Amino acid sequence: MRFLIAMMKHETNTFSPVPTPLARFGNGPGPLYGDAAIRAYRGTGTGLGAYLDLAAREEAEIVLPIAAGSPPSGPVEDAAYTEITERICTAAASGHFDGILLDLHGAMVTQSLEDGEGELLKRLRQIVPETPIAVSLDMHANLYDDIITNATVVTGYRTYPHVDTYETARLAGEILLRTIRGEVSPVMAWGNVPMLPHVMRQGTDDHPNRELQHRCATMADEGALAASLFTGFPHADIKNAGLSAVIVTDGDRELAERLRDELLDRAWVEREAFVYKIEPLQASVARAKALPAPEAGGGPIVLLDHYDNCASGGTMDTTAVLAEILRQGLEDVAAFAIYDPDAVQQAITAGIGAVVTLSIGGKIAMPAIPAESPSLTISGTVKTISNGRYRNRGPMARGVQMDMGPAVVLDTGAVEIVLISRHVEPSDLNCFLALGIDPMQKRYLMLKSRIHWRAGLGKLARAVVDCAGVGVCTSDYGQLDFKKVRRPIYPLDLANR
Ligand SMILES: [Zn+2]
Repeated sequence: MRFLIAMMKHETNTFSPVPTPLARFGNGPGPLYGDAAIRAYRGTGTGLGAYLDLAAREEAEIVLPIAAGSPPSGPVEDAAYTEITERICTAAASGHFDGILLDLHGAMVTQSLEDGEGELLKRLRQIVPETPIAVSLDMHANLYDDIITNATVVTGYRTYPHVDTYETARLAGEILLRTIRGEVSPVMAWGNVPMLPHVMRQGTDDHPNRELQHRCATMADEGALAASLFTGFPHADIKNAGLSAVIVTDGDRELAERLRDELLDRAWVEREAFVYKIEPLQASVARAKALPAPEAGGGPIVLLDHYDNCASGGTMDTTAVLAEILRQGLEDVAAFAIYDPDAVQQAITAGIGAVVTLSIGGKIAMPAIPAESPSLTISGTVKTISNGRYRNRGPMARGVQMDMGPAVVLDTGAVEIVLISRHVEPSDLNCFLALGIDPMQKRYLMLKSRIHWRAGLGKLARAVVDCAGVGVCTSDYGQLDFKKVRRPIYPLDLANR
């Protein structure tokens, strides 16, 4: 057998000022191609890792033209999209393939397109009308008709934090293999409901997504080959942003539609539980300060700077939460992280042990939101200088090499502030350990994250305090000017129904 395998992943925050050129796709100079991509992803707990394992098991020949994955940011530059998709389409046209296995995100907006994945699949379908195509998607996919009508099978993550990326791709791949062998004939039914579930309320440890995803799992017992509920990505001002569902069955369209409708109905009933309630920043930090000191080894209190999560398109350089922590005098804090390549270079020039005064963060304008993000002037000791490389220990993206760029730890006495040069969300314990910070020894951790921090750090946390700071993944939808999303949509329009 011969497979075409490729990855193209980007979650686009249309309100984000962070540019998305080709160089952003990859932990280094850009995407990985061919053998370099295979070496980087073989044996990892990723979608590509799963596809490579399946191909090895089947002793299939593989062509992997490109692995392009970027942290979320603003619309993908057209040139980057063209480069990535042409690589995949050229490979598809280069010879016979028994199957195509794609690891996509499902919320890629480009400078010219609302639905980057649908356009790719449409083009592939024109090149290879008969070749089965498996697609695995992120739970934050915003689905369009072109994705479903041009794929053979679509699966989505069941966990948030996403610790089942491997399993999701493996399921898509296994169904595709059965299709190639003539054992099943997949049909898909998809649909959406007009709701924008709040990202802070989408975690699968919590009601209602826990129960909704559990119901997806049990649909296998009723004949579904795959059942996926996508909570969607709301920080995308595009027509189809929001919650959707896809069911794959073996030739049974009526069953697929019935299970799809059940999932969508259940989600709609729970729409109020997907709404997030905001506490003012000053009150949150004061509440954290008042929490009793831990017993030895009791674990840190997490201060969640959730308006500025780079894994939702945040600039990762807003300082509102850090400033409030300093203002209220919290002590024994580690903060991950402020993105500021210039400040990092100044600290590196000063050297380890030097006392420096730096203006950190607040350097990226955010015209899409009505909020100021001033720089913060900080004096402290340069405690650590690092090349910023570490490997994820998991459970999320286990084994994947990460790169936060040149990084330093600036110690103010009360707060150890991590300054980085590339966007990395603190979702793995090793992002701290690589910099010589043991989170278990800290009273507080300030994290620029929303849900994914739970994957690698959730078990350590003694308590969590959400901190409403500033940023383009704002948890206050009132700060976002939606123009293109379909209306009416809950909760923007239907709050009182
Ligand atoms: Zn996601």
